[in-house]
Amino acid sequence: MSYQHQYLDGTRIHFPLGKVVCIGRNYAEHARELDNPIPTEPLLFIKPGSCVVPLTGGFKIPVDRGAVHYEAEIAVLLGKPLSTHPTEEEVRDAISGFAPALDLTLRDVQAKLKEKGLPWELSKCFDGACVLPPFVSAGFFEEPTDIGIRLTINDEVRQDGNSAMMLNPIVPIIQHIAAHFTLQPGDVILTGTPAGVGPLNPGDELVLELPGASRFEGRVL
Ligand code: ZN
Repeated sequence: MSYQHQYLDGTRIHFPLGKVVCIGRNYAEHARELDNPIPTEPLLFIKPGSCVVPLTGGFKIPVDRGAVHYEAEIAVLLGKPLSTHPTEEEVRDAISGFAPALDLTLRDVQAKLKEKGLPWELSKCFDGACVLPPFVSAGFFEEPTDIGIRLTINDEVRQDGNSAMMLNPIVPIIQHIAAHFTLQPGDVILTGTPAGVGPLNPGDELVLELPGASRFEGRVL
């Protein structure tokens, strides 16, 4: 199924899907569980729009390249361009919505790339590597510093975090990204994953939530 940005009520969002800018190691507990140092400067990487798929109806994962790990993350949709050094106010004004997303990672492939000091594309950019359900309008949330993110697999809660636990909170991290390169309407920011990452397998039943704001069910085909 091809992907198109939309809100929870089914309204289509008119700007096209752009790039997906991801933040690595933005929760201290997650950095520790993978034995990674806590970065002194935010770690960024980009997933191309081509890897984004909707959650509804289920999604496929690669089965021939080692372990595929789930990373549940708060996704931020931008509705206005941001560049150079946007103010906090400009960033808040540019945020259109929030959704619970999955940043899927070929963990064995990534471990080899890391070992060699190579870029992560082969582990992070495969077709289907970003699973994105519809967005809740930004106006629903009082503050982006208190948004929950929860992933349940086969009735067991695997990840349960909150944006309050981020090393780099949502508004400042978007200011930081835009200071380095332009963000456009339709771009998505994946704000990092809390602790609890692990492998996904065909047949897994998922519940992906921003608790109190949105809840989606999906399945690995
Ligand atoms: Zn991630």
